[in-house]
Amino acid sequence: MIEDKNQNKTSLSELGEFGLINHLTKHFKLKNASTIKGVGDDAAVLDASEKQTLVSTDLLIEGVHFDLSYMPLKHLGYKAVMVNLSDVYAMNGTAEQITVSIAVSNRFPLEAIEELYAGIQLACETYNIDLIGGDTTSSTKGMLISVTAIGKAAKEDVVYRNGAKETDLIVVSGDLGAAYLGLQVLEREKQVFQVDPNNQPDLDAYTYLIERQLKPEARKDIAGLLKELGVKPTSMIDISDGLSSEIMHICSKSKVGCKLYEDKFPLDPQVISTCEEFNMDSTMIALSGGEDYELLFTVPIADFDNIKGNPNFSIIGHITEENQGMNLVTRANQEIALQAQGWNALKKE
Ligand code: ADP
Ligand code: MG
Repeated sequence: MIEDKNQNKTSLSELGEFGLINHLTKHFKLKNASTIKGVGDDAAVLDASEKQTLVSTDLLIEGVHFDLSYMPLKHLGYKAVMVNLSDVYAMNGTAEQITVSIAVSNRFPLEAIEELYAGIQLACETYNIDLIGGDTTSSTKGMLISVTAIGKAAKEDVVYRNGAKETDLIVVSGDLGAAYLGLQVLEREKQVFQVDPNNQPDLDAYTYLIERQLKPEARKDIAGLLKELGVKPTSMIDISDGLSSEIMHICSKSKVGCKLYEDKFPLDPQVISTCEEFNMDSTMIALSGGEDYELLFTVPIADFDNIKGNPNFSIIGHITEENQGMNLVTRANQEIALQAQGWNALKKE
């Protein structure tokens, strides 16, 4: 059934599956030499170089991972690509291709899917990625998007989660907690809007937070930056579920412990002011907020001078022996055991 708001819109059934795929993908240009064949045959063809291939995939489901009442479809397309590129960058690699599979109900007109693909295309152009295939099918309810990213790295450059060593420094790029607070702001505005649709939200104080939630950027730049500094991380992971659960992944895979220092956490001024306004603890938000898509990594202590003072990086702690556990050192110099609370857990409170 086509809803009223879809009047003058094109029903997906008018195009048919192949018409739709062609319509959505025809404006994408191939950019990478490793892409021999993209969309249009039974399988894409990639040139396997002497490097190692990195593959990462994510499945996003409406109502579980995104809410279209405040997530514009163009942003959703962009973000769906970012979360996958971020995983490839977290291996210290270069991303070159994606596949995109979608399932949509007939609630969505063609124009909605075009918006989604406009976001995907913007991401591909900005990050030099080729769209090389996917699958298109219908769903009985809502929208599903699955993106797979393919990248590469020289064998000696790949960084795993399991290489952190005792005394290594723990480093994070960018700042933490803003994307989660952006989601809080958007959910609050949605509720206000439901009570009074004439209410015009004033979001000036939260622009950075909302941008971090709706238009995250994967850290494509970090691998190159580290190479320039002559630093190879001993372990690395991207921050999708929150600092706390990510450092716990590194520690458990590397069989080490850690100390994180509360006073070293990088926080944007909007995070600090909004935490005060919402009566939230900014340390808790930085630890458990998630969706930052920053990179968390460890480096040998000998690299301290290479990292220290670099505006892209904050040294937030160090690796310890495994039997010391995983701890947060508070401003009052108390040690508290870290808890693996992803942002989903936080949401339920
Ligand atoms: P098959 O029947 O062999 O699965 P399809 O008809 O599903 O092939 O797909 C035709 C071509 O279009 C393939 O190259 C496929 O990868 C690509 N494709 C299908 N759906 C999408 C999509 N949503 N986004 C990008 N490419 C797609
Ligand atoms: Mg198919």
